[in-house]
Amino acid sequence: MMVPTNGAIAHEALHNGDSRHGAGRLIVMSNRAPIRIVREHGQERVEPTVGGVGSTFLRLLERHGGTWIAWSGGPRSPEPLTMPPGGEPRFRIVFAPLVEQDISDYYYGMCNRALWPLMHLMIPRSHFSRQHWQRYERVNRAFAEIAVREAQPGDLLWVQDFHLAMVPRFVRERRADLPIGIFWHVPFPPEQLLRILPWREEFIAGMLGADLIGFHTHSYATHFLNCCEGVMGLRIDRRRGEVAVGSRRVRVGAFPLGIPADFFADLAAGERVRARVTRIRRAIGTPTVILGVDRLDYTKGILERIHGYERFLEQHPQWRRRVTLVLIAVPSRTKVSDYAILKRELDELVGNVVGRFSSEGWTPLRYLYTQFGAEELVAYYAAADIALLTPLRDGMNLVAKEFVAAHLDDGGVLILSEFAGAAEELSEALMVNPYSVDQLADRIYQAVEMDAAERVRRFGAMRAKVHANNLEVWSGSFLDALDTAAGARLDDAVETSV
Ligand code: UDP
Repeated sequence: MMVPTNGAIAHEALHNGDSRHGAGRLIVMSNRAPIRIVREHGQERVEPTVGGVGSTFLRLLERHGGTWIAWSGGPRSPEPLTMPPGGEPRFRIVFAPLVEQDISDYYYGMCNRALWPLMHLMIPRSHFSRQHWQRYERVNRAFAEIAVREAQPGDLLWVQDFHLAMVPRFVRERRADLPIGIFWHVPFPPEQLLRILPWREEFIAGMLGADLIGFHTHSYATHFLNCCEGVMGLRIDRRRGEVAVGSRRVRVGAFPLGIPADFFADLAAGERVRARVTRIRRAIGTPTVILGVDRLDYTKGILERIHGYERFLEQHPQWRRRVTLVLIAVPSRTKVSDYAILKRELDELVGNVVGRFSSEGWTPLRYLYTQFGAEELVAYYAAADIALLTPLRDGMNLVAKEFVAAHLDDGGVLILSEFAGAAEELSEALMVNPYSVDQLADRIYQAVEMDAAERVRRFGAMRAKVHANNLEVWSGSFLDALDTAAGARLDDAVETSV
Protein backbone atom coordinates (compact mmCIF):
# COMPACT_ATOMS: atom_id res chain seq x y z
CA MET A 1 0.00 0.00 0.00
CA MET A 2 1.28 3.46 -0.84
CA VAL A 3 0.80 6.35 1.53
CA PRO A 4 1.48 9.98 0.70
CA THR A 5 4.41 11.42 2.62
CA ASN A 6 4.45 14.93 3.93
CA GLY A 7 7.90 15.56 2.45
CA ALA A 8 6.38 17.01 -0.70
CA ILE A 9 4.54 19.59 1.36
CA ALA A 10 7.71 20.41 3.20
CA HIS A 11 9.62 20.94 0.02
CA GLU A 12 6.94 23.12 -1.53
CA ALA A 13 7.01 25.31 1.55
CA LEU A 14 10.76 25.71 1.19
CA HIS A 15 10.49 26.60 -2.47
CA ASN A 16 7.81 29.16 -1.79
CA GLY A 17 10.01 30.74 0.84
CA ASP A 18 7.24 30.10 3.38
CA SER A 19 8.27 30.39 6.99
CA ARG A 20 5.95 27.72 8.33
CA HIS A 21 5.97 27.03 12.04
CA GLY A 22 5.11 23.52 13.06
CA ALA A 23 5.39 21.78 9.70
CA GLY A 24 7.83 21.43 6.87
CA ARG A 25 10.64 23.47 8.32
CA LEU A 26 14.26 23.02 7.40
CA ILE A 27 16.64 22.04 10.18
CA VAL A 28 20.21 22.68 9.11
CA MET A 29 23.07 21.37 11.18
CA SER A 30 26.73 22.23 10.82
CA ASN A 31 29.78 22.39 13.01
CA ARG A 32 30.01 26.18 12.93
CA ALA A 33 27.19 28.67 13.00
CA PRO A 34 26.89 31.14 10.14
CA ILE A 35 27.45 33.92 12.65
CA ARG A 36 29.79 34.70 15.49
CA ILE A 37 29.12 36.63 18.63
CA VAL A 38 31.59 39.46 19.10
CA ARG A 39 31.96 40.95 22.58
CA GLU A 40 33.23 44.50 22.73
CA HIS A 41 33.02 47.05 25.56
CA GLY A 42 30.62 44.81 27.48
CA GLN A 43 28.27 44.64 24.48
CA GLU A 44 27.50 41.65 22.27
CA ARG A 45 27.08 41.93 18.54
CA VAL A 46 26.29 39.27 15.92
CA GLU A 47 28.48 39.06 12.81
CA PRO A 48 28.30 36.66 9.84
CA THR A 49 31.24 34.25 9.63
CA VAL A 50 33.32 33.63 6.56
CA GLY A 51 33.41 30.37 4.64
CA GLY A 52 31.66 28.39 1.96
CA VAL A 53 29.26 26.48 4.19
CA GLY A 54 28.36 29.35 6.49
CA SER A 55 27.61 32.02 3.96
CA THR A 56 25.75 29.60 1.70
CA PHE A 57 23.30 28.30 4.29
CA LEU A 58 22.82 31.65 5.95
CA ARG A 59 21.25 32.83 2.72
CA LEU A 60 19.24 29.64 2.37
CA LEU A 61 17.70 29.83 5.83
CA GLU A 62 17.11 33.56 5.52
CA ARG A 63 15.04 32.75 2.49
CA HIS A 64 13.24 29.67 3.78
CA GLY A 65 13.04 29.82 7.57
CA GLY A 66 13.67 27.04 10.11
CA THR A 67 16.37 26.20 12.66
CA TRP A 68 20.14 26.02 12.52
CA ILE A 69 21.98 23.83 15.01
CA ALA A 70 25.68 24.58 15.43
CA TRP A 71 28.56 25.00 17.82
CA SER A 72 28.92 28.58 19.02
CA GLY A 73 32.64 28.59 18.23
CA GLY A 74 33.70 28.76 21.89
CA PRO A 75 33.19 26.92 25.18
CA ARG A 76 30.04 28.84 26.09
CA SER A 77 26.57 27.77 25.04
CA PRO A 78 24.57 30.94 24.47
CA GLU A 79 20.80 31.14 24.44
CA PRO A 80 19.16 30.42 21.07
CA LEU A 81 19.17 33.42 18.75
CA THR A 82 16.45 34.53 16.41
CA MET A 83 17.72 35.76 13.06
CA PRO A 84 17.96 38.41 11.85
CA PRO A 85 18.46 39.95 15.29
CA GLY A 86 15.84 42.55 16.02
CA GLY A 87 14.06 42.02 12.69
CA GLU A 88 11.23 39.77 11.59
CA PRO A 89 12.67 36.36 12.66
CA ARG A 90 13.29 34.09 9.69
CA PHE A 91 15.05 31.32 11.60
CA ARG A 92 16.50 30.35 14.96
CA ILE A 93 20.04 29.34 15.81
CA VAL A 94 20.38 26.77 18.58
CA PHE A 95 23.89 26.29 19.92
CA ALA A 96 25.42 22.96 20.85
CA PRO A 97 27.45 23.27 24.05
CA LEU A 98 31.07 22.14 23.67
CA VAL A 99 33.36 22.07 26.69
CA GLU A 100 37.12 22.75 26.33
CA GLN A 101 37.93 19.04 26.05
CA ASP A 102 35.41 18.66 23.20
CA ILE A 103 36.97 21.56 21.34
CA SER A 104 40.42 20.13 21.75
CA ASP A 105 39.65 16.47 20.95
CA TYR A 106 36.64 16.61 18.63
CA TYR A 107 37.41 19.80 16.71
CA TYR A 108 41.19 20.23 16.71
CA GLY A 109 41.95 16.54 17.08
CA MET A 110 39.50 14.41 15.14
CA CYS A 111 38.19 16.98 12.65
CA ASN A 112 41.24 19.08 11.86
CA ARG A 113 44.12 16.65 12.38
CA ALA A 114 42.56 13.33 11.37
CA LEU A 115 39.55 13.66 9.08
CA TRP A 116 40.44 16.83 7.18
CA PRO A 117 43.77 15.50 5.86
CA LEU A 118 42.33 12.00 5.33
CA MET A 119 39.44 13.35 3.24
CA HIS A 120 41.93 15.40 1.22
CA LEU A 121 44.11 12.34 0.58
CA MET A 122 46.98 13.74 2.65
CA ILE A 123 47.66 10.68 4.73
CA PRO A 124 51.01 11.67 6.30
CA ARG A 125 49.26 14.64 7.93
CA SER A 126 46.54 12.46 9.50
CA HIS A 127 46.91 11.72 13.21
CA PHE A 128 44.52 9.26 14.84
CA SER A 129 43.78 8.96 18.54
CA ARG A 130 41.12 6.85 20.20
CA GLN A 131 40.45 9.60 22.71
CA HIS A 132 39.73 12.06 19.87
CA TRP A 133 37.45 9.56 18.19
CA GLN A 134 35.47 8.97 21.38
CA ARG A 135 34.95 12.71 21.79
CA TYR A 136 33.92 12.94 18.16
CA GLU A 137 31.23 10.34 18.79
CA ARG A 138 30.14 12.09 21.97
CA VAL A 139 29.84 15.47 20.32
CA ASN A 140 27.96 13.96 17.37
CA ARG A 141 25.59 12.37 19.87
CA ALA A 142 25.04 15.74 21.56
CA PHE A 143 24.24 17.38 18.19
CA ALA A 144 21.87 14.51 17.39
CA GLU A 145 20.08 14.97 20.73
CA ILE A 146 19.34 18.60 19.87
CA ALA A 147 17.98 17.61 16.46
CA VAL A 148 15.73 14.97 18.02
CA ARG A 149 14.44 17.61 20.44
CA GLU A 150 13.97 20.33 17.82
CA ALA A 151 12.49 18.32 14.95
CA GLN A 152 8.74 18.41 14.67
CA PRO A 153 6.75 16.01 12.50
CA GLY A 154 7.16 16.99 8.86
CA ASP A 155 10.52 18.73 9.32
CA LEU A 156 13.62 17.81 7.32
CA LEU A 157 17.09 17.48 8.82
CA TRP A 158 19.97 18.51 6.60
CA VAL A 159 23.36 17.73 8.16
CA GLN A 160 26.49 19.39 6.78
CA ASP A 161 29.91 17.90 6.37
CA PHE A 162 32.46 15.54 7.84
CA HIS A 163 32.36 16.99 11.35
CA LEU A 164 28.98 15.37 11.89
CA ALA A 165 29.20 12.05 10.03
CA MET A 166 27.69 10.07 12.92
CA VAL A 167 24.66 12.32 13.43
CA PRO A 168 22.42 10.67 10.79
CA ARG A 169 22.70 7.30 12.52
CA PHE A 170 22.24 8.70 16.04
CA VAL A 171 19.13 10.60 14.96
CA ARG A 172 17.81 7.68 12.91
CA GLU A 173 17.96 5.41 15.99
CA ARG A 174 15.46 7.70 17.68
CA ARG A 175 13.42 9.09 14.78
CA ALA A 176 12.28 6.72 12.03
CA ASP A 177 9.95 9.41 10.67
CA LEU A 178 12.47 12.12 9.94
CA PRO A 179 13.89 12.65 6.43
CA ILE A 180 17.64 13.01 6.97
CA GLY A 181 20.12 14.22 4.37
CA ILE A 182 23.86 14.77 4.74
CA PHE A 183 25.93 16.80 2.35
CA TRP A 184 29.66 16.24 2.24
CA HIS A 185 31.51 19.50 1.56
CA VAL A 186 34.97 17.96 1.28
CA PRO A 187 36.26 15.25 -1.07
CA PHE A 188 35.64 11.59 -0.22
CA PRO A 189 38.76 9.43 -0.55
CA PRO A 190 39.05 6.20 -2.54
CA GLU A 191 38.42 3.00 -0.59
CA GLN A 192 42.09 2.12 -0.15
CA LEU A 193 42.69 5.41 1.67
CA LEU A 194 39.48 5.45 3.69
CA ARG A 195 40.50 2.03 5.02
CA ILE A 196 43.28 3.78 6.94
CA LEU A 197 40.71 5.22 9.35
CA PRO A 198 40.75 2.92 12.40
CA TRP A 199 36.98 3.44 12.93
CA ARG A 200 36.01 3.17 9.28
CA GLU A 201 33.02 0.87 9.81
CA GLU A 202 31.42 3.06 12.49
CA PHE A 203 32.13 6.15 10.42
CA ILE A 204 30.40 4.85 7.29
CA ALA A 205 27.56 3.33 9.30
CA GLY A 206 27.03 6.77 10.85
CA MET A 207 26.58 8.39 7.45
CA LEU A 208 24.29 5.58 6.33
CA GLY A 209 21.68 6.64 8.90
CA ALA A 210 20.67 9.26 6.30
CA ASP A 211 18.13 8.82 3.49
CA LEU A 212 20.34 10.79 1.12
CA ILE A 213 24.10 11.33 1.05
CA GLY A 214 25.26 14.07 -1.31
CA PHE A 215 28.75 14.78 -2.66
CA HIS A 216 30.09 17.51 -4.93
CA THR A 217 31.20 15.16 -7.71
CA HIS A 218 30.48 11.77 -9.22
CA SER A 219 33.91 10.50 -8.33
CA TYR A 220 33.45 11.21 -4.59
CA ALA A 221 30.04 9.48 -4.70
CA THR A 222 31.63 6.49 -6.44
CA HIS A 223 34.37 6.30 -3.81
CA PHE A 224 31.74 6.26 -1.09
CA LEU A 225 29.74 3.50 -2.82
CA ASN A 226 32.92 1.46 -3.20
CA CYS A 227 33.55 1.82 0.56
CA CYS A 228 30.01 0.64 1.32
CA GLU A 229 30.67 -2.46 -0.75
CA GLY A 230 34.32 -3.08 0.07
CA VAL A 231 34.56 -2.01 3.72
CA MET A 232 31.02 -2.72 4.88
CA GLY A 233 30.13 -5.68 2.65
CA LEU A 234 26.83 -4.00 1.69
CA ARG A 235 24.94 -4.48 -1.54
CA ILE A 236 25.15 -1.41 -3.76
CA ASP A 237 23.51 -0.37 -7.01
CA ARG A 238 26.01 1.82 -8.85
CA ARG A 239 23.64 2.80 -11.61
CA ARG A 240 20.88 4.00 -9.30
CA GLY A 241 23.30 5.25 -6.63
CA GLU A 242 21.84 3.17 -3.83
CA VAL A 243 23.06 1.21 -0.84
CA ALA A 244 20.94 -1.48 0.83
CA VAL A 245 21.15 -1.08 4.62
CA GLY A 246 18.95 -3.74 6.18
CA SER A 247 15.49 -3.06 4.86
CA ARG A 248 16.36 0.56 3.98
CA ARG A 249 17.79 1.94 0.76
CA VAL A 250 20.14 4.89 1.10
CA ARG A 251 20.51 7.12 -1.92
CA VAL A 252 23.98 8.44 -2.84
CA GLY A 253 24.53 11.08 -5.49
CA ALA A 254 26.48 14.05 -6.86
CA PHE A 255 25.05 17.50 -6.13
CA PRO A 256 27.70 20.06 -7.12
CA LEU A 257 27.27 23.00 -4.74
CA GLY A 258 26.02 26.18 -6.41
CA ILE A 259 26.61 29.77 -5.33
CA PRO A 260 24.17 32.69 -5.16
CA ALA A 261 25.44 33.89 -8.53
CA ASP A 262 23.11 36.91 -8.80
CA PHE A 263 24.22 38.14 -5.40
CA PHE A 264 27.84 38.26 -6.61
CA ALA A 265 26.95 39.72 -10.02
CA ASP A 266 24.72 42.42 -8.48
CA LEU A 267 27.34 43.34 -5.93
CA ALA A 268 29.96 43.62 -8.67
CA ALA A 269 27.69 45.88 -10.73
CA GLY A 270 27.09 48.27 -7.83
CA GLU A 271 28.66 51.70 -7.75
CA ARG A 272 30.60 51.21 -4.53
CA VAL A 273 32.32 48.07 -5.80
CA ARG A 274 33.08 49.68 -9.16
CA ALA A 275 34.72 52.63 -7.42
CA ARG A 276 36.70 50.20 -5.31
CA VAL A 277 37.81 48.29 -8.40
CA THR A 278 39.21 51.49 -9.88
CA ARG A 279 41.11 52.19 -6.67
CA ILE A 280 42.52 48.66 -6.52
CA ARG A 281 43.66 48.73 -10.16
CA ARG A 282 45.27 52.13 -9.70
CA ALA A 283 47.10 51.02 -6.56
CA ILE A 284 48.42 47.85 -8.21
CA GLY A 285 49.43 49.69 -11.33
CA THR A 286 50.25 46.84 -13.74
CA PRO A 287 48.14 46.16 -16.86
CA THR A 288 47.53 42.54 -15.79
CA VAL A 289 46.42 41.37 -12.35
CA ILE A 290 46.39 37.72 -11.28
CA LEU A 291 44.44 36.81 -8.14
CA GLY A 292 44.58 33.93 -5.67
CA VAL A 293 42.10 33.69 -2.77
CA ASP A 294 42.09 30.95 -0.15
CA ARG A 295 41.94 30.14 3.50
CA LEU A 296 45.55 29.62 4.50
CA ASP A 297 45.44 25.82 4.29
CA TYR A 298 47.96 23.24 3.08
CA THR A 299 45.33 21.75 0.75
CA LYS A 300 45.13 24.97 -1.26
CA GLY A 301 48.50 24.71 -3.03
CA ILE A 302 49.52 28.27 -2.21
CA LEU A 303 53.26 27.58 -2.10
CA GLU A 304 53.04 25.63 -5.36
CA ARG A 305 51.24 28.58 -6.95
CA ILE A 306 54.02 30.98 -5.98
CA HIS A 307 56.67 28.60 -7.30
CA GLY A 308 54.76 28.43 -10.60
CA TYR A 309 54.55 32.22 -10.77
CA GLU A 310 58.25 32.52 -10.02
CA ARG A 311 59.03 30.10 -12.86
CA PHE A 312 56.80 32.14 -15.18
CA LEU A 313 58.69 35.33 -14.32
CA GLU A 314 62.00 33.53 -14.87
CA GLN A 315 60.98 32.16 -18.25
CA HIS A 316 59.19 35.25 -19.57
CA PRO A 317 61.15 38.32 -18.51
CA GLN A 318 59.12 40.42 -20.98
CA TRP A 319 56.18 40.02 -18.58
CA ARG A 320 58.01 41.46 -15.57
CA ARG A 321 56.68 44.89 -14.58
CA ARG A 322 53.48 44.14 -16.52
CA VAL A 323 51.89 41.69 -14.13
CA THR A 324 51.13 41.43 -10.40
CA LEU A 325 50.03 38.41 -8.41
CA VAL A 326 47.68 39.37 -5.56
CA LEU A 327 47.37 36.68 -2.88
CA ILE A 328 44.56 36.92 -0.38
CA ALA A 329 45.16 34.42 2.41
CA VAL A 330 42.50 34.17 5.12
CA PRO A 331 43.89 33.21 8.56
CA SER A 332 42.66 29.71 9.42
CA ARG A 333 43.14 27.10 12.19
CA THR A 334 46.10 29.05 13.50
CA LYS A 335 46.30 26.86 16.62
CA VAL A 336 47.07 23.73 14.58
CA SER A 337 50.83 23.33 14.13
CA ASP A 338 50.72 22.38 10.41
CA TYR A 339 48.98 25.69 9.74
CA ALA A 340 51.44 27.74 11.77
CA ILE A 341 54.32 26.10 9.88
CA LEU A 342 52.65 26.81 6.53
CA LYS A 343 52.23 30.46 7.50
CA ARG A 344 55.96 30.75 8.20
CA GLU A 345 56.84 29.04 4.91
CA LEU A 346 54.51 31.30 3.01
CA ASP A 347 55.89 34.47 4.61
CA GLU A 348 59.39 33.36 3.69
CA LEU A 349 58.56 32.40 0.11
CA VAL A 350 56.69 35.65 -0.52
CA GLY A 351 59.70 37.54 0.85
CA ASN A 352 62.05 35.65 -1.49
CA VAL A 353 60.01 36.33 -4.62
CA VAL A 354 59.43 39.96 -3.77
CA GLY A 355 63.11 40.42 -2.97
CA ARG A 356 64.24 38.62 -6.11
CA PHE A 357 62.08 40.31 -8.75
CA SER A 358 60.96 43.70 -7.44
CA SER A 359 62.30 46.65 -9.33
CA GLU A 360 61.69 50.33 -9.00
CA GLY A 361 57.98 50.97 -8.83
CA TRP A 362 57.00 47.31 -9.32
CA THR A 363 56.21 44.64 -6.76
CA PRO A 364 55.58 41.27 -8.43
CA LEU A 365 53.47 39.89 -5.62
CA ARG A 366 51.12 41.43 -3.09
CA TYR A 367 50.22 39.32 -0.13
CA LEU A 368 47.18 40.19 1.99
CA TYR A 369 46.88 38.05 5.12
CA THR A 370 43.35 39.02 6.02
CA GLN A 371 39.70 38.16 5.73
CA PHE A 372 37.61 40.41 3.53
CA GLY A 373 33.87 40.98 3.60
CA ALA A 374 31.82 40.20 0.50
CA GLU A 375 32.05 43.70 -0.98
CA GLU A 376 35.83 43.97 -0.78
CA LEU A 377 36.29 40.42 -2.00
CA VAL A 378 34.02 40.99 -4.99
CA ALA A 379 35.98 44.13 -5.82
CA TYR A 380 39.14 41.99 -6.02
CA TYR A 381 37.35 39.38 -8.16
CA ALA A 382 36.23 42.11 -10.54
CA ALA A 383 39.60 43.89 -10.55
CA ALA A 384 41.59 40.78 -11.47
CA ASP A 385 42.11 39.62 -15.05
CA ILE A 386 43.06 36.09 -14.11
CA ALA A 387 42.17 33.91 -11.12
CA LEU A 388 44.86 31.37 -10.28
CA LEU A 389 43.35 28.70 -8.01
CA THR A 390 45.59 25.74 -7.45
CA PRO A 391 44.33 23.49 -4.64
CA LEU A 392 46.15 20.17 -4.28
CA ARG A 393 42.71 18.78 -3.41
CA ASP A 394 39.46 20.65 -2.79
CA GLY A 395 35.86 19.49 -2.30
CA MET A 396 34.53 22.17 -4.64
CA ASN A 397 36.35 25.55 -4.41
CA LEU A 398 33.64 28.16 -4.22
CA VAL A 399 36.09 30.95 -4.95
CA ALA A 400 36.35 29.68 -8.55
CA LYS A 401 32.60 30.03 -9.03
CA GLU A 402 32.43 33.36 -7.23
CA PHE A 403 35.18 34.77 -9.47
CA VAL A 404 33.23 33.69 -12.55
CA ALA A 405 30.00 35.25 -11.24
CA ALA A 406 31.57 38.49 -10.06
CA HIS A 407 33.77 39.17 -13.07
CA LEU A 408 31.23 40.90 -15.25
CA ASP A 409 33.12 41.29 -18.47
CA ASP A 410 34.00 38.16 -20.41
CA GLY A 411 37.68 39.06 -20.52
CA GLY A 412 38.52 37.01 -17.44
CA VAL A 413 40.55 33.82 -17.36
CA LEU A 414 40.29 31.09 -14.76
CA ILE A 415 43.25 28.82 -14.15
CA LEU A 416 41.97 25.97 -12.02
CA SER A 417 43.51 22.92 -10.44
CA GLU A 418 42.24 19.69 -11.92
CA PHE A 419 41.98 18.46 -8.31
CA ALA A 420 39.25 20.95 -7.33
CA GLY A 421 35.69 19.60 -7.39
CA ALA A 422 34.76 22.67 -9.46
CA ALA A 423 36.90 21.33 -12.32
CA GLU A 424 34.22 18.74 -13.12
CA GLU A 425 31.77 21.54 -13.98
CA LEU A 426 34.01 24.41 -15.07
CA SER A 427 35.66 22.45 -17.83
CA GLU A 428 36.41 25.60 -19.88
CA ALA A 429 38.93 26.76 -17.28
CA LEU A 430 42.61 26.35 -18.03
CA MET A 431 43.24 23.16 -16.09
CA VAL A 432 46.47 22.70 -14.23
CA ASN A 433 48.19 20.04 -12.19
CA PRO A 434 49.45 22.13 -9.26
CA TYR A 435 52.19 19.60 -8.50
CA SER A 436 53.90 20.61 -11.76
CA VAL A 437 55.78 23.91 -11.49
CA ASP A 438 56.38 23.93 -15.24
CA GLN A 439 52.74 23.40 -16.06
CA LEU A 440 51.75 26.19 -13.66
CA ALA A 441 54.18 28.55 -15.40
CA ASP A 442 52.87 27.47 -18.82
CA ARG A 443 49.26 28.02 -17.84
CA ILE A 444 50.01 31.50 -16.51
CA TYR A 445 51.74 32.30 -19.79
CA GLN A 446 48.83 30.89 -21.79
CA ALA A 447 46.42 33.00 -19.71
CA VAL A 448 48.25 36.30 -20.08
CA GLU A 449 48.66 35.74 -23.82
CA MET A 450 45.14 34.44 -24.48
CA ASP A 451 43.32 36.33 -27.22
CA ALA A 452 40.04 38.08 -26.52
CA ALA A 453 37.86 35.71 -28.56
CA GLU A 454 39.05 32.65 -26.64
CA ARG A 455 38.62 34.41 -23.29
CA VAL A 456 35.06 35.33 -24.16
CA ARG A 457 34.24 31.83 -25.35
CA ARG A 458 35.58 30.11 -22.25
CA PHE A 459 34.36 32.65 -19.71
CA GLY A 460 30.88 32.96 -21.20
CA ALA A 461 30.39 29.19 -21.02
CA MET A 462 31.48 29.09 -17.38
CA ARG A 463 29.30 32.04 -16.41
CA ALA A 464 26.26 30.33 -17.94
CA LYS A 465 26.92 27.20 -15.84
CA VAL A 466 27.46 29.11 -12.59
CA HIS A 467 24.15 30.93 -13.08
CA ALA A 468 22.30 27.79 -14.20
CA ASN A 469 23.36 25.66 -11.21
CA ASN A 470 23.09 28.39 -8.60
CA LEU A 471 22.49 27.96 -4.88
CA GLU A 472 18.74 27.87 -5.27
CA VAL A 473 18.86 25.18 -7.96
CA TRP A 474 21.37 23.16 -5.95
CA SER A 475 19.43 23.24 -2.69
CA GLY A 476 16.19 22.53 -4.57
CA SER A 477 17.65 19.46 -6.25
CA PHE A 478 19.08 18.13 -2.99
CA LEU A 479 15.79 18.66 -1.16
CA ASP A 480 13.83 17.08 -4.02
CA ALA A 481 16.07 14.03 -3.91
CA LEU A 482 15.78 13.87 -0.11
CA ASP A 483 12.04 14.08 -0.37
CA THR A 484 11.94 11.21 -2.87
CA ALA A 485 14.40 9.05 -0.90
CA ALA A 486 12.61 9.54 2.44
CA GLY A 487 9.21 9.07 0.80
CA ALA A 488 10.30 5.77 -0.74
CA ARG A 489 11.63 4.57 2.63
CA LEU A 490 8.42 5.39 4.44
CA ASP A 491 6.39 3.73 1.67
CA ASP A 492 8.61 0.62 1.89
CA ALA A 493 8.15 0.55 5.67
CA VAL A 494 4.37 0.69 5.31
CA GLU A 495 4.41 -2.03 2.63
CA THR A 496 6.47 -4.39 4.78
CA SER A 497 4.25 -3.80 7.80
CA VAL A 498 1.01 -4.57 5.92
N1 UDP B 1 35.99 34.36 1.61
C1 UDP B 1 35.61 35.49 2.28
N2 UDP B 1 36.56 36.47 2.53
C2 UDP B 1 37.83 36.35 2.10
C3 UDP B 1 38.20 35.20 1.39
C4 UDP B 1 37.26 34.20 1.16
O1 UDP B 1 34.45 35.65 2.66
O2 UDP B 1 38.63 37.26 2.34
C5 UDP B 1 34.97 33.30 1.35
C6 UDP B 1 34.69 33.13 -0.12
O3 UDP B 1 33.70 34.06 -0.52
C7 UDP B 1 34.21 31.67 -0.21
C8 UDP B 1 34.84 31.02 1.01
O4 UDP B 1 35.46 32.05 1.78
O5 UDP B 1 32.79 31.58 -0.13
C9 UDP B 1 35.88 29.98 0.67
O6 UDP B 1 35.22 28.84 0.17
P1 UDP B 1 36.00 27.74 -0.67
O7 UDP B 1 35.04 26.68 -1.06
O8 UDP B 1 36.74 28.35 -1.82
O9 UDP B 1 37.10 27.16 0.33
P2 UDP B 1 36.99 26.64 1.85
O10 UDP B 1 37.53 27.76 2.68
O11 UDP B 1 35.53 26.33 2.14
O12 UDP B 1 37.89 25.44 1.89
